[in-house]
Amino acid sequence: MIAVLLLLCNNALAIDIVATLPYLGSIAHEVAPTAKITTLARGSEDPHFLSPTPALMAKVGAADVYIETGMGLELWSERVLDGAGNPKIRVGQPGYVKATDNVPRLDVPVNLSRAQGDMHPEGNPHVWLDPLNAPIVADNIAAGLGRVDPANAATYTANAKAFRAKIDERLFGKELVAFMGGDLLERLERGGKLAPFLESKGLTPKLGGWLKDGAALRGKPVVFYHQSWSYFIARFGVDTVGYIEDRPGIAPSASHRDELAAAMKARGCTTIVIESFYDDRLAHVMAEQVGATVDVVPGNVEGVPAATDYFSFMDTLVHEIATP
Ligand SMILES: [Zn+2]
Repeated sequence: MIAVLLLLCNNALAIDIVATLPYLGSIAHEVAPTAKITTLARGSEDPHFLSPTPALMAKVGAADVYIETGMGLELWSERVLDGAGNPKIRVGQPGYVKATDNVPRLDVPVNLSRAQGDMHPEGNPHVWLDPLNAPIVADNIAAGLGRVDPANAATYTANAKAFRAKIDERLFGKELVAFMGGDLLERLERGGKLAPFLESKGLTPKLGGWLKDGAALRGKPVVFYHQSWSYFIARFGVDTVGYIEDRPGIAPSASHRDELAAAMKARGCTTIVIESFYDDRLAHVMAEQVGATVDVVPGNVEGVPAATDYFSFMDTLVHEIATP
């Protein structure tokens, strides 16, 4: 009897998914709720730098599907894959998923030089900070799962579609989605035309969700620590005064810090946003210098206890950064 139960359980957990980061684990769970999902980095860890330890390699050794952001974000991922000895999930194999395929990229460098910081040579990989990118990630995961498990491909596709509908409701509000449909709203918002469209039709009061909750973000002057925030900034219309780390991954010079402090004063910027995994001493020094406050926010799902999944993660960001 116990053997039979174990067998049934094993069937239900047929797919073994490993995701590099918690946001990917959360979205994978939406696409494949019954799968076994292991996440390599914790939400409180810097996603760029993780030690590719034998323990991580062992987690990947039996995976059917491996999901990473790619675009050079997880600098440790290649060594984990090299050490895992699992041919099914090597780059280019059916079990390998690059979550950022088809995501419209921001900050793609025009010319690369070491002096500019060479951390994000393929463009900004922090795509999950725009909720409109999350459904694209879900589609990529569904496609990968479908390649490995074709019998359930239609289910994965349907789950990704349901996730997109949930994201639309959380971003635009239920009422507006029911009225206009998620596809049209996404298209207008991507093109930067949603706000004027709603205004012209007298529909602005119907807007809900994160765009309404984050209304205070529009035009708000903010300094960020690392250049992770381009997608969030673009979606919510934040007025970015600058970055403490002016070149990604390189410690800022004193002259840059002075210029930034002057810009903060000139533009009335009183908010410095930093992800919880960075050393926040420099942010506090600058905040004291100009009379600003430091908002320590999660950089990923599970980065703080309240951010249990992608939805509560975005809730936390919008509310923390929008609050004066
Ligand atoms: Zn980065």
